[in-house]
Amino acid sequence: MESSDLYPITRLAAAREAAAVAGLDALLLTPGPDLRYVTGYEALPLERLTCLVLPVKGEAFLTVPRLELPAAEHSPASRLGVEFVPWEETDDPYAAVAARLGGVARVGLADRMWALQSLRFRDALPGTEQVLAGTVLRDLRMRKSPAEVAALREAGAAIDAVHAQVPGFLRAGRTEREVGRDIAEAIIEAGHSIVDFVIVASGPNGASPHHELSGRVIQPGEPVVVDIGGQMPSGYCSDSTRVYCIGEPPAAFAKYYDVLQRAQEAACDAVRPGVSCESVDAAARDVIAAEGYGEYFIHRTGHGIGLETHEEPYIVAGNAEPLAPGHAFSIEPGIYLPGAHGARIEDILICTEESGERVNHRPRELVVG
Ligand code: ZN
Ligand code: ZN
Ligand code: ZN
Repeated sequence: MESSDLYPITRLAAAREAAAVAGLDALLLTPGPDLRYVTGYEALPLERLTCLVLPVKGEAFLTVPRLELPAAEHSPASRLGVEFVPWEETDDPYAAVAARLGGVARVGLADRMWALQSLRFRDALPGTEQVLAGTVLRDLRMRKSPAEVAALREAGAAIDAVHAQVPGFLRAGRTEREVGRDIAEAIIEAGHSIVDFVIVASGPNGASPHHELSGRVIQPGEPVVVDIGGQMPSGYCSDSTRVYCIGEPPAAFAKYYDVLQRAQEAACDAVRPGVSCESVDAAARDVIAAEGYGEYFIHRTGHGIGLETHEEPYIVAGNAEPLAPGHAFSIEPGIYLPGAHGARIEDILICTEESGERVNHRPRELVVG
């Protein structure tokens, strides 16, 4: 996929416009998903300042350490027609940005800017109010373009290919860490550029939603929660969970797994434009609560996904935001019985004009191997 489709040069103007509407004077975007979204530039986050300065009035420029200049010039940011302003090791790039920007009342800082940098900007721009750039960029970033949807489908297919191999990695007698190592390798082989996380949670560890890997030896008859994801070269992320069992699962587990599968299905079925995030959460939660497992579903139903694994919109009680075509998010209810076992089923969905399109297609039944 061409970067011009995924990262169109019109983003610069769209971000400027959104900043103007929000009453900001400029956006200051350091390396991370906000900068990549606006420019396509996957810059290294370093203590040395790289920053796209996008004033509402006036010309945008990219402040960049001299040694990063060749990388910036070879990045998609070079298509934007913004001036690259290199700084030398002994310069103060914060003072230089402030001088060039002039007096500004309010600036939006990239959500993932380091405190190391935001506090330097506060000193260099005394009296300037700092807000999160995310408040301005969220609407743009939430609504995925057709090229972004294609990138998420590609990421979904890649992680599905990894799940297809998991039964071959999982055997009683192996440790979670050994299995996790094989999965991490497969994530890269399937086309990801980065392994974001590998959760292999066996037996009682399955009751901890974000358990990662341990030296625990997997036992026969144990359910194993496998939640994995990575970032593709496009920048877009994958994230999918399936539950496997080495031999027949405990009866108590089989009973609630069935409930969980119905809950996940109900939430996926609830997705369509105009429906609120919280009602999608409720669609899953109601099924689980009706069967008496409500207190064991201890997290929100899902999170948005794109250039970040967790981004807006969050599928959670209290979020009245209506879904719109192009929104991309996970549906991942879980049931966790402390000390015993747990389960979660997770797919990424795109809200289309009429419903939800899953990008993950592996079977959702318990995989008994
Ligand atoms: Zn999670
Ligand atoms: Zn996940
Ligand atoms: Zn997730």
